[in-house]
Amino acid sequence: MAIKFYPTIGLEIHAEFRTKTKMFCNSKNDPDEKRPNVNICPVCMAHPGTLPVINKEAVKHVLRAGYAIGGKIADFTEFDRKNYFYPDIPKGYQITQYKYPLVSGGSINNVLITRIHLEEDTAKSFHRENDGNSYVDFNRAGVPLMELVTEPVIKSAKEAGDFARELQTLLRYLGASEANMEKGEMRVEANISVSADPNKFGTKVEVKNLNSFKAVEKAIEFELARHTKLLEENKGEEIIQETRGWDEFKQVTFSQRKKESSHDYKYFPDPDLPKLWISKVKEFNDLKESLPELPKDKRERFLSNYGLRNEAVELFINERALADFFEKAIAGVKDTKDLVVLTANYITSDIIALIKKAGVTNTDELNEINEQTIRISPESYLALMEMIFKGELSSRGAKDTLAKMYELGGGDAKKIAEELGAIQKSDVGELKKIVAEVLNENPDMVAQYKAGKVAVLQFLMGQAIKKTKGAGNPKILTEVLLEMLK
Ligand code: ADP
Ligand code: MG
Repeated sequence: MAIKFYPTIGLEIHAEFRTKTKMFCNSKNDPDEKRPNVNICPVCMAHPGTLPVINKEAVKHVLRAGYAIGGKIADFTEFDRKNYFYPDIPKGYQITQYKYPLVSGGSINNVLITRIHLEEDTAKSFHRENDGNSYVDFNRAGVPLMELVTEPVIKSAKEAGDFARELQTLLRYLGASEANMEKGEMRVEANISVSADPNKFGTKVEVKNLNSFKAVEKAIEFELARHTKLLEENKGEEIIQETRGWDEFKQVTFSQRKKESSHDYKYFPDPDLPKLWISKVKEFNDLKESLPELPKDKRERFLSNYGLRNEAVELFINERALADFFEKAIAGVKDTKDLVVLTANYITSDIIALIKKAGVTNTDELNEINEQTIRISPESYLALMEMIFKGELSSRGAKDTLAKMYELGGGDAKKIAEELGAIQKSDVGELKKIVAEVLNENPDMVAQYKAGKVAVLQFLMGQAIKKTKGAGNPKILTEVLLEMLK
């Protein structure tokens, strides 16, 4: 009786590039500028008679992204005017690309990409309740913005979230954008539809104002449920093609406006800008060779080379400084798999915890981690790991030593461990003496053990550990104890 419904999602993602200057003028591109209308000039203020000049750095970012996703780079491209009226776009049009995007096709996480094009960001308008006025800040006007559009091939909220996260990681690797969603450097719009017919799309809605990956996933889940319910109740006609907003507080979407279609914008090629034949521009050649190791390749390398858990690998993919630290530390020990895993584990648990505790970042997004915030050199870190690996430190002692090294900003692992009394006693002769004492002092326990009450071992171990002030190597102590009880 239950009908099956088929969800479809397509994403449109904007990301602001980290270029020195804006897309079509020499004004500074500084997303951290707090004072309004500081980074402006007649061009990005839309004064009549000014002329735009293409920022090649921004074009290069799109081309490199295009190579990274395996897309097709345009032979020919041009910029178009998208005409509409709004106070944040005083020219009366936005310069964007319509018919000839810089990049077509490609994929990320097996999600097919339609295109990536380049455009300019708008100014920011805002309303102040205290004086009832509206204001426009032009610092953002003309900042280079890429728009990536996916094919309608995503099937779930999780898949959409994963796609957006992977794009963010890629843009960071490429040095194109910090793509921080909370700062509005990356903005995701989700197109969503549900159909009872696998061969036909349902009516789609577009959801905006998604300021975090979590919001992206929640809003998609909300819309999929809303559509499914309407279809189940046979009220499919109530799904209208529209733009909806996401209410973060109420965790619901709400209707904003009926979507305009592209002919409303009367796109046409911008006569102020030159057409581009990419291969003829020297700076646009050989960009493919300039790509860094990409997230997907690094992921594969980490998974196959180091025998780490998925979560550990993902952490290293997102935190490049930690991955570099890890790889520098194990540079000489690649053959000892267990030491490699141990070295990774203390990074993904203790080092991360120490960095968080030091207040470097209080979000889950740890992208501020760098060599300075790690504080310890890979060499001294490895020295500590080797001690742990050889059983010279208890797990408590290892943690304390690492914390102390972090506090001191590095140092000699062995010396610090000694000073903390964290070195584990592993000398068999010495441990035998201690066990002998314990057995002498507890004859009735020994008798109980010999009568078959194995549980007293715990007690005897505890006594022995106590005598070593917690520093006895438990593995060796157990062996010695069992041997001497025979
Ligand atoms: P529009 O003309 O409304 O902007 P496009 O064809 O340009 O629509 O697609 C915009 C986005 O919507 C793309 O990411 C695309 O994958 C997605 N999309 C298109 N149709 C659907 C649909 N029926 N359901 C979900 N997403 C869709
Ligand atoms: Mg469109």
